[in-house]
Amino acid sequence: MLDIMSYGDCQPDLVRKETLERLSSGKLDMLALGGGIVGSGLARDAATRGLNVGLVEQYDFAFGTSSRSSHLLHGGLRYLAQGYIRLVHEASLEKRVVHRIAPHLADPLPFIFPTRKGWQWARWKLSIGVKLYDLLCGRRNLGKSSTLSRKALLELLPDLEPHGITGAVRYYDGLTNDARLVIDTLRSAHNNGAILANYVRFDGATYQDGLWHCRAVDQITGQPLEIRATQVVNATGPWSDKIANSATDLRLTKGVHLVIDRKRLPIPDAVVMTEGSRILFGIPWGERVILGTTDTDYDGPLETPDCNEEDISYILDVVAVLFPRAKITPDDIISTWSGLRPLVADPHGNPSDISRRHEIKMAQPGWWDVTGGKLTTYRLMSEQAIDRVVKHAGLDVQPCRTATEPLLEKSQTDGLSSVVPQEVTERAVRHFCRNEWARSLEDVMVRRTYWSYYHRNHAEIARQILPWVAEELGWNEETAQAELTKYLDEHGNKPSQSKAADASEVS
Ligand SMILES: Cc1cc2nc3c(=O)[nH]c(=O)nc-3n(C[C@H](O)[C@H](O)[C@H](O)COP(=O)(O)OP(=O)(O)OC[C@H]3O[C@@H](n4cnc5c(N)ncnc54)[C@H](O)[C@@H]3O)c2cc1C
Repeated sequence: MLDIMSYGDCQPDLVRKETLERLSSGKLDMLALGGGIVGSGLARDAATRGLNVGLVEQYDFAFGTSSRSSHLLHGGLRYLAQGYIRLVHEASLEKRVVHRIAPHLADPLPFIFPTRKGWQWARWKLSIGVKLYDLLCGRRNLGKSSTLSRKALLELLPDLEPHGITGAVRYYDGLTNDARLVIDTLRSAHNNGAILANYVRFDGATYQDGLWHCRAVDQITGQPLEIRATQVVNATGPWSDKIANSATDLRLTKGVHLVIDRKRLPIPDAVVMTEGSRILFGIPWGERVILGTTDTDYDGPLETPDCNEEDISYILDVVAVLFPRAKITPDDIISTWSGLRPLVADPHGNPSDISRRHEIKMAQPGWWDVTGGKLTTYRLMSEQAIDRVVKHAGLDVQPCRTATEPLLEKSQTDGLSSVVPQEVTERAVRHFCRNEWARSLEDVMVRRTYWSYYHRNHAEIARQILPWVAEELGWNEETAQAELTKYLDEHGNKPSQSKAADASEVS
């Protein structure tokens, strides 16, 4: 049982009770396992087609990889170089779809790819590559690619090491907010009738008389639940092959990101940094820069992939080659996060060369495993999976409309959901608890806002918002203090804590 306790009949508790009753009474057309971007996309697609759909997530929504990505909507220039044209084409079209249905979560982001004499990434090759990249977007990328002369490049990036530089290409992808994309997709699913519960763990299922009888546990009260569904879709990302009944085989790789102040690396656009055939990015994120990522095989705990000294020096060494004068050191790191890529297994390949393709498999009648893919392609994966589910189940449904219908109205996202973390407001914090299923301080500080990673003084912000969260969730003083301690224990030892908090960051 989770050590989140609430007292009294606060509104979120009453709503949750009713949700769990609806989940376990009657029979669902489909139960989605996992509240990451794929499970959320499945729930939205199924609900908008008129299916009676439920979703359970063992922790908070977006707890897994979907809050630990590089925040990019991209076709993947690197995959183009590897010859995965179809994959790049699909993802390129999907990045535009996200821009259409959720413009508040898809900022066009220019990328500068500097080129050097004698490097495998020659400028003439890259300029052909980025033109092709634009074409694969249906000729309408989020911006038009171009070539930069050496002079223009050095004016744009004065801190760049000039030795051997021949110029650059500039191309466009999108910057998103992965956890917010999950939450807004879930809100859309909810608006269309999906029954969604976080902190409910799926524990196994038996198939009887054409129905899956799923065992689940409410992680807040410890209560067991039985959920009956004709179709079950396993979308548990890195956990997929641990789920009973699953037929997936995964290879997990870890990717680490570092966040530094943008004043320390004042880049106007994202910058591509290479290490052999690998590509890393410096990504402007408001007043910060995200640096990453690594790609190494992983077999540790799935909940808490680490960021170790080796990961940090790998990234900082790559940055130092391009920007030696910036002298970025571990002391500059404000925060870090690490995510696990749920790649469809290929035991032999180099992790960076394993394709990011997705797989939709029916392992047993009415049991589906949906794995692999990318944040960018989540909607397409969901559409293809639901197409197969409804065909198999012989369901008469409405056509898919997830590519055209906006996730939410503008009035539902203003001041609440954006690419770059917004300021702390009481209204937003109360909204996250009332309407976005936040159940803990961490849910608000990490997955609803990213304040935890964005601000050096996030501990101070956590203290500031505690009374609002406590009131919304019906915590007494003792529970509120325990929640704060838990948050600080888990997040207080970030690199930022070694530095004095910058009080001006709290608004
Ligand atoms: C370092 C890194 C950088 C990336 N960058 C990008 C990028 O910039 N752009 C891009 O397009 N893609 C990117 N990706 C890929 C993308 O993030 C993932 O493909 C995507 O987030 C996977 O989503 P998911 O829903 O499959 O998995 P997850 O987000 O991990 O969701 C699975 C969920 O299932 C839940 N779960 C597990 N077991 C159970 C159970 N028994 N009961 C209930 N729930 C359960 C978990 O708690 C978890 O929340 C990146 C990946 C990594 C690792």
